[in-house]
Amino acid sequence: MAYLIDGKVISKQIKDELKEKVSAYNKVICLAVIQVGCDPASTVYVGNKKKACEYIGIKSLAYELPEETTQEELLDIIDKLNEDDNVHGILVQLPVPKHINEDCIIQAISPNKDVDGFHPASVGALSIGQKGFVSCTPAGVIQLLKRSNIDIAGKECVVVGRSNIVGKPMSMLLLRENGTVTICHSKTKDLKEVCKRADILVVAVGRPRMIDASYVKPGATVIDVGIHRDENNKLCGDVDFASVEPVAGAITPVPGGVGPMTIAMLMNNCVEAGMTE
Ligand code: NDP
Repeated sequence: MAYLIDGKVISKQIKDELKEKVSAYNKVICLAVIQVGCDPASTVYVGNKKKACEYIGIKSLAYELPEETTQEELLDIIDKLNEDDNVHGILVQLPVPKHINEDCIIQAISPNKDVDGFHPASVGALSIGQKGFVSCTPAGVIQLLKRSNIDIAGKECVVVGRSNIVGKPMSMLLLRENGTVTICHSKTKDLKEVCKRADILVVAVGRPRMIDASYVKPGATVIDVGIHRDENNKLCGDVDFASVEPVAGAITPVPGGVGPMTIAMLMNNCVEAGMTE
C-alpha cells in the first residue's frame, strides 16, 4: 500500500505558519482579487481565496466586475493597483471573458505583485534561477514532496503535460531541486515506457484516470495534479488511483492532494509580496 500524501494536512500546516508570520508582522498585507463576469467555478475559486486570506490575516480587496467590462477598463484598474503601495498582490481570476486578451492582462500586472507567478518576467526568472513568484500549483507539489521527506535530488522525474501554468513550471522547479527531468506531452512516443522510468511521476495531462498501474514503476511517487468530475459526478484525477495505489510508493489522492496546496502557495506568495516591499 502506498503512503498517502495528505494535501489537506500539509496545506493547513503552511497556512498556520503563514498566519503566525503575518500576526507577528506590524503592517497590513493586502491582496486585490479581480473577477470579470460571474462564471460559477470562478466565483467558488475567488470565494476560497478570500476565505484563505481571512484565515491568515491578509486583507483582501474584491473587484467584482461585470461581464461587459472592456479590456481598457480592466487595464486601468490594474494600473491603479500597481501604483497603490497599500496593495501587495494582484490576482485576476482566469479565464477572463473572450473579448479580453488574457496575455495582455497577465503582462499588465507588475512582476512585484504577480502572486500567481504567470507574468513572463516571473516565468523567465524561474527558468534562469532568479528570484520571482512561482506558479502556485507546481510550487505546491514541491512542498508536498519536501514535507513528505521525498528526496528530489538525483531522482528521475517525469512530468506528463507541458502547459504554461503547470507542466513547464513544474519541470523547472524539479530541475531547480536537482531532479533529472523529462517532460512528456501529446507527441511523446512510448509514453508508458518513459513514465515507467520515473522515481517521481507528476501527472498534469487533463485526462480523467488516464495513468494506470501500467505507467508506474513499483515504489514510485505519483503526484496527480488533475481534477475532474467523472460520469457519477465524483471528483477524480488524471491518475487511476485504484489501479496505481497498490503499486506506488507514495501517492496523492484527488480530492485532498494537490488541490488544497494551490491556495496555500498563493497565500505564501502574498505574504512574500507584502514582506519584501
Ligand atoms: P492543459 O490542457 O493546458 O495541458 C495538458 C497537457 O497534457 C498538454 O501539454 C498536452 O500536450 C498533454 N497531453 C494531453 N493529452 C496527452 C496524452 N494523451 N499524452 C501525453 N500528453 C498529453 O492542462 P493544465 O496543465 O492546465 O491542467 C492539467 C490538469 O491539472 C487538468 O486536469 C486541470 O484541471 C488540473 N489542474 C489542477 C490544478 C489544481 O489546483 N489542482 C490547477 C491547474 C490545473 P500538448 O502540449 O502536446 O497538447
